[in-house]
Amino acid sequence: MLEEEGINERIRYCNACALSDSRRVYGDVNRSRILFIGEAPGQDERRIGLPFVGDAGQVLDSWIRECGFTRKQVAIINAVKCMKEKNRKPAIDEIDACNIFLWDQIYMLKPSKIVVLGASAMYSVLRTQMPVMENVGRIFKVVRDDLEFELLIMPHPAYCLRNLTYKPPIDIMKRFLK
Ligand code: URA
Repeated sequence: MLEEEGINERIRYCNACALSDSRRVYGDVNRSRILFIGEAPGQDERRIGLPFVGDAGQVLDSWIRECGFTRKQVAIINAVKCMKEKNRKPAIDEIDACNIFLWDQIYMLKPSKIVVLGASAMYSVLRTQMPVMENVGRIFKVVRDDLEFELLIMPHPAYCLRNLTYKPPIDIMKRFLK
């Protein structure tokens, strides 16, 4: 049986990649069947110890609210739990090194719906490096062992902050999470 404390304990002692340091962000693992997956913690997340608490987090919070939920009604984790180097994209082997923990969290939560935010999160679950922005709004059905969930691809909220004229398909996400 996968328990949050046991998973966090194993994350705490992991040194499998170059990003690992003592400030790990385990996730905002509310018991929910709706799971959002981001990329990796930034400086704000490392300071506070929770995912998506900086500027990108405010964007994500507004999306969650628009879909009719509060943050406490969903679970939020990252593909990568450490990020000691400032603001760089994790490499594929770094996402791979963290993947066991990501799947432990998914098996623990048994979500029925997963929203992946950006390319790293998409790769962490679907193992594809297809161009994420060309696939935003697509929904996949994923079956793995006794798990079965639907997965929606969304852009990373930080992308939307950098591209203010881009309008993310919140209507699709709203319908997906209904
Ligand atoms: N971006 C992410 O992908 N995750 C966070 O926790 C914060 C910003």
